[in-house]
Amino acid sequence: PTFDSMALKPALLRGIYAYGFEKPSAIQQRAIRPIVRGRDVIAQSQSGTGKTAVFSISALQLLDDRVKDPQVLILSPTRELAEQTTQVVSSLGDFMSAKCHGCIGGRSLGDDRKALEQGVQVISGTPGRVYDLIKRGHLMPKSLKAFIVDEADEMLKMGFKEQIYDIYRNLPPQAQVVLVSATLPVDVSGSSRVLIATDLWGRG
Ligand code: AMP
Repeated sequence: PTFDSMALKPALLRGIYAYGFEKPSAIQQRAIRPIVRGRDVIAQSQSGTGKTAVFSISALQLLDDRVKDPQVLILSPTRELAEQTTQVVSSLGDFMSAKCHGCIGGRSLGDDRKALEQGVQVISGTPGRVYDLIKRGHLMPKSLKAFIVDEADEMLKMGFKEQIYDIYRNLPPQAQVVLVSATLPVDVSGSSRVLIATDLWGRG
């Protein structure tokens, strides 16, 4: 299994190799394909197994270059993680025209507003700031096609459930949902796995 065989955009493939990755990790081999095909996915794998690249590569592959509005929204539980993800997406997308911006609590709202006005395709953020930007009308969710929640299990434990749902309610109904976690509520200890879910949050 190679990144070459994953039918990724040439510019993205170039970014992956330039970043220093040679071959996909187990969770990358399993999860990237269904995500880029538009499935709702729960990807579970221990820390340090390359989950950030799973959703960063998928996000970049999902982008339609012609659309300058936000297309992929990634939520992280902490400011540090949201910033790290912003960096990883930006680096992997180095050879693409993709714009990624961090919408992160504690930072300047004005900077977020300016970046969003200029056109951002991937947003990596923390729940409070992202919801605030949606409420104020600065972040227009109408072009969002993928909603990615990193450390999903942690986020629920930290009490972000309502906030994540507030954001989710504002997404187009057809938006794809990807939950990424080191643990799962059910004990399925062992290797990395991908569950293809068709009815997350009871959307029917
Ligand atoms: P993560 O699990 O996302 O925190 O990633 C753990 C570390 O593995 C990070 O330093 C990544 O840059 C690195 N990594 C992720 N995917 C790969 C890969 N396919 N090949 C080599 N290193 C990787």
